[in-house]
Amino acid sequence: MSNLDSLDTIVSLAKARGFIFQSSEIYGGLSAVYDYGPLGVELKRNIQNIWWKDMTQRHENIVGVDAAVFMHPKVWEASGHIEGFNDPMIDDKQSKKRYRADMLIEDCILNLAKDGKKEKAAEIQELLNTSGTRKNLAKDLYDIIIENEIKAPDSGAFDWTEVRQFNLMFKTAFGATSSEDDGVYLRPETAQGIFVNYKNILDTSRVSVPFGIAQTGKAFRNEVVARQFVFRMREFEQMEMQYFVEPGTDSNAYALWKKKRLSWHKSIGIREENLRFSDHPKDKLAHYALAAVDVQYKFPIGWQEVEGIHNRSDFDLTQHQKLSGKKLDYFDQKNNKRYVPYVIETSIGLDRCILMVLCDAYREEEVNGEKRTVLKMHPELAPIQVGVFPLVKKSGLQEVARKIEAELIEHYSVRYDETGSIGKRYRRLDEAGTPFCITVDFDTIETDNKVTIRYRDDMSQERIPLNKIAYAIKEGIKDWKPS
Ligand code: ATP
Repeated sequence: MSNLDSLDTIVSLAKARGFIFQSSEIYGGLSAVYDYGPLGVELKRNIQNIWWKDMTQRHENIVGVDAAVFMHPKVWEASGHIEGFNDPMIDDKQSKKRYRADMLIEDCILNLAKDGKKEKAAEIQELLNTSGTRKNLAKDLYDIIIENEIKAPDSGAFDWTEVRQFNLMFKTAFGATSSEDDGVYLRPETAQGIFVNYKNILDTSRVSVPFGIAQTGKAFRNEVVARQFVFRMREFEQMEMQYFVEPGTDSNAYALWKKKRLSWHKSIGIREENLRFSDHPKDKLAHYALAAVDVQYKFPIGWQEVEGIHNRSDFDLTQHQKLSGKKLDYFDQKNNKRYVPYVIETSIGLDRCILMVLCDAYREEEVNGEKRTVLKMHPELAPIQVGVFPLVKKSGLQEVARKIEAELIEHYSVRYDETGSIGKRYRRLDEAGTPFCITVDFDTIETDNKVTIRYRDDMSQERIPLNKIAYAIKEGIKDWKPS
């Protein structure tokens, strides 16, 4: 378990400690848009850097790209987003509130199960599972809502509009003159920036199939129901990799990436028991997918997707070939054959990943009758990795502590702190997830040239020589395991 009853605890901690703030908060906030504060931005960069290193630098056949958010409008025609990137929405006529029809039904199922009405819950779940091919999904969902008399959660009314499909892309004006302005979309996924650069990369880099292109960047979706903090945002960040393979080898590549990506989640310290795969049933696959699986995390709001792994077949390249008129096939010189590669995609939301890390790290413990709140995250992710303290604000101790800070800062993110009692300083950094604290005391300068290193997870302390600090931290990071 994540040791959490609800997301509210994380929302409060994230705000109080400067991880995540609501956007434009002084104006009342903007719904489903968030800003990262001083600790949040460090955590975000750490995760992003680890992902980048693992996905590109550690794979000699994966290269990076950084495509623009704005793309030619035809891209979204080719990808199917203009036609099919919709969510089913329904409005409560009385409160004028809008809901995502499928989520409304899911919430009703959860409530029924909570109230012990398991049979009814299972019956509606079955209807939901078998609802709709994409064409009649709206009608199927509407029928479920009406036939089961599902009421609006906020007003309690049973006065619904029809279910309508709502396109999730943001459209904006483009260019200074009206002749230029056809309107462009803010990209709803980063993947298409990879597909439209596939040919450029093939022609200019020494890659050959199988190879991958990785990208991190912002994506925008006008989500119908935007709630649950950074789990579902209207502006968010994705880390995606498209792996181009020869048709026929796609199933193996898909299985391989499934395995690799699950290991990655464990490698950043997420506890194994809180991770699982959830396969998409064949009849619910997105229009481009031959196979799809979610890596799910056990959030306080239930098991939810953090990452999607998809076999996208040759759908995207074929579509772009058709609409652009440019050849996007691949010539395999060794075997003298030509084909349009298949694509295995791994797509993870950076913000959801951050939420997962915070939830998994969060612990409340009782220490000497007092509550200790601590984020036991992987030391490589910690926004502040090392705290350096002089025991008291005294010349002599301060200089040694500053010297340690200056040496460590070349390799780690370090916070010098001399205010408040040592206990308070530990607690502050426990809440920030800092794995190591170094304290310089009078013995350090008068007798033994040693400092106290204190470990966040079990609060154990040991005295180590000044010249062994860097080594102790390195070993501490290497040996760290989630507890
Ligand atoms: P969901 O089913 O939760 O709407 P999705 O299946 O539409 O997600 P994908 O299109 O596969 O998601 O996007 C890949 C990843 O991007 C997701 O696994 C998720 O981590 C992230 N993501 C998608 N939508 C959002 C959002 N609105 N806010 C934050 N992260 C998101």
